[in-house]
Amino acid sequence: MRKVTVLGSTGSIGVSTLKVIESNPEEYKVFGLAAGRNIDLFTEQIERFRPAVVAISDEELANTLRDRLKMNPCPEVYFGPEGLIDLASLDEADIVLSAITGAAGLAPTHGAIQAGKDVALANKETLVMAGPIIMDLSKKKGVSILPVDSEHSAIQQSMQGHAREDLKRIILTASGGPFKDLPIEEMEFLTPAAALKHPNWDMGRKITIDSSTLMNKGLEIIEAKWLFDLRTDQIGVVIHPESIIHSMVEYMDGSIIAQLGVPDMATPISYALSYPRHLKTDLPPLEIETIGTLNFSKPDMKKFRCLALALDAIEVDGSMPAVLNGANEIAVEAFLNEEIGFLQIPVLIERVMQAHDPVPVEDIEAVMEADRWARETAKKELIPMRS
Ligand code: NDP
Repeated sequence: MRKVTVLGSTGSIGVSTLKVIESNPEEYKVFGLAAGRNIDLFTEQIERFRPAVVAISDEELANTLRDRLKMNPCPEVYFGPEGLIDLASLDEADIVLSAITGAAGLAPTHGAIQAGKDVALANKETLVMAGPIIMDLSKKKGVSILPVDSEHSAIQQSMQGHAREDLKRIILTASGGPFKDLPIEEMEFLTPAAALKHPNWDMGRKITIDSSTLMNKGLEIIEAKWLFDLRTDQIGVVIHPESIIHSMVEYMDGSIIAQLGVPDMATPISYALSYPRHLKTDLPPLEIETIGTLNFSKPDMKKFRCLALALDAIEVDGSMPAVLNGANEIAVEAFLNEEIGFLQIPVLIERVMQAHDPVPVEDIEAVMEADRWARETAKKELIPMRS
């Protein structure tokens, strides 16, 4: 029985994770839960899963939560960024599933690794911002980082039983998002509502916008580079609109090994929690006989500038990927608030990257400083861009 702490339990990945746990009660037990502001859902989850310890984003919400919880025994309630790190570091959990969105996920994930916990990693921003620091620390502590991102889970699965030195490259698949076939001239006035309609995946708002700009694929390239210790030229991207093949590994002899499945995060979440086993899920099977045609094409880097910017950031390296990530978070928020248009997202990120003097980052504090600088600069750059 593995004791699991879920960071971001009220989000899309968090809710799917709790379903996976619930459908395998003999394999998993919830030890800790953490959420941001959705106190209604969080209360329900706590009453249902009975964690020993919980954490919420601030003190006021923690007090409200304590008043609401009528259970005996009542879980301990931690709060704020420190409370999240403390929860992630507690001895009793066997694995921490990191699914807080954005840069807020970095410190607790780092805390979990520092405390020697295995991490099931959905929060790709952790590796985008601090890849070398996180991977070095995980080696030093002897902990596993198990990918939850479906593409990285597919890569990990396609690497099982193959010699690492035979790997030629990996190929990340991308659905292409809702605007894959839209001419660039028609992209200027796209609304947040249109960008939030992902054709295949049901996800949180930030990652859904990142999927529509292809920034998500850019962040995944950086994530894959550190997770699998690859050169950037060993990471390809292919548009595959059906989202049936979740990614592939090409070997020296020309073989390409792929992982297929229905587009639902239950599979990669389950694999990350049960690695190297493939335990049952409640998903309908992939009916391969009825799928018909699968399509593949090259991504359009001119139309989707965010992908090119992510490649630029990892080429520069040091503090630049954290700056890319911080600027992107501000740009996505501004787009969702209808302050800037869809095509201005990469414009804002590029301005911030151009204003940045990259420095080497050797610790988490330096990464957080780059993130803080990027957000501040993006907010300044945003003022004249607001419509
Ligand atoms: P959601 O927006 O659906 O959920 C985010 C979660 O983080 C919520 O539980 C939210 O709490 C919590 N949260 C946000 N800020 C804080 C904070 N400061 N302190 C504590 N908790 C906080 O996101 P997703 O589930 O879609 O994505 C989560 C992560 O997983 C992202 O990094 C994303 O890139 C990655 N991912 C997601 C996939 C998906 O299919 N959704 C696929 C692959 C990766 P609350 O809602 O209570 O405010």
